[in-house]
Amino acid sequence: MLSYDEILNQLRDQSLFRELRTIEQITGPLVRVNDRTVVNFASNDYLGLSQHPAVKMAAKAAIEEFGAGAGASRLVTGTESPHTKVEKEIAAFKGVESAIVFSSGYAAAVGTITSVAGPGDVIILDKLAHACLIDGAKLSGAALRVFPHNDIAKLQSHLTWARRTYPSGKALIVTESMFSMDGTFADLTPIVGLKKNFDALLMVDEAHATGVIGPNGTGWVSALGLTKEVDIQMGTLSKALGASGGFICGSASLIQLLVNKARSFIYSTALPPASAAAASEALKIVHSPEGKLLRGHLLDNVLRLDQLLAHQSHRTGDTISPIFPVMIGDEGRALVLAAALLERGILAPAIRYPTVARGSARIRIALSSLHSNQQVSALAETILLSK
Ligand code: PMP
Repeated sequence: MLSYDEILNQLRDQSLFRELRTIEQITGPLVRVNDRTVVNFASNDYLGLSQHPAVKMAAKAAIEEFGAGAGASRLVTGTESPHTKVEKEIAAFKGVESAIVFSSGYAAAVGTITSVAGPGDVIILDKLAHACLIDGAKLSGAALRVFPHNDIAKLQSHLTWARRTYPSGKALIVTESMFSMDGTFADLTPIVGLKKNFDALLMVDEAHATGVIGPNGTGWVSALGLTKEVDIQMGTLSKALGASGGFICGSASLIQLLVNKARSFIYSTALPPASAAAASEALKIVHSPEGKLLRGHLLDNVLRLDQLLAHQSHRTGDTISPIFPVMIGDEGRALVLAAALLERGILAPAIRYPTVARGSARIRIALSSLHSNQQVSALAETILLSK
């Protein structure tokens, strides 16, 4: 049996060792790390709303009214008016019947997938789906199948297999919308076509698209006009909405099912009311002319970086992703590049196995409307110099 230290040394040998880094201060897009100020290209705060004065004020006001924590799980006494308010707002924002918030996106995924599918059912995942979706699927006890990223033919063959092998079971297709580590977009229109043909259910994780993509930032599902076709939409309050917590939205009966069955909802303290209140304020901004301006500035940044890095970004039609993977391959080389960037004043993490496949390590750049034109230009220059 390997000791802890032996396991850690194995990780070091494979350039897969991870360490926490403490951020000492945040000022706009600048962060202080080890007493040095660097530009943060690692955060998912795509619209800078975690630092927006109105969002911070909303959180402070909720703390004054309800306290720092929720004090209990949602079904005990942890459901406070900021929670129910933000749930109504999320449902309206997404154009669906109902919504529910969890303490994190991870908890939302695991609680939902295990409530919807179980032994005798089949879950079919895109290969690049986030760890929380994979973990939920594994925990559910359903049979699992994986299709290569956006490979519709393979998805079809898995659905054919599922219907033949488990004729009375559910088939649940699970994908992200804008993929977290690649910035690619799910090919949702043909996926919806297959879902209908095979009478399957479809769950789409909009963690990175919510607030950023589509009309008023409502996400990739609604941008494609597919809201009615997607059974389960998931998202987080922790990325473009600048707060913390996860959400699921869909039919009223889906949400009631989760209140009754989702163990990560039932047996965990509710997210702090301040997070719910902050997310409410953020949603208001996302939906407002100011939100449009912020998305416009983000798009300017994305187009600038795309041009400077010779069009390495992912786009589908007019939609373009603020997530730029600078592909390196070897894990050790990715670490060296991340360290060189940090040395030159840029914080951008090396993303390695098991977050991505072995040998596909990368530097993940996430742009924000907080970044200035000059910061984006300097980023491109530094990447080209350091690579
Ligand atoms: N889904 C995706 C695609 C994510 O990238 C993340 C966060 N990294 C999550 C879900 C989990 O969300 P949270 O951080 O709120 O737990």
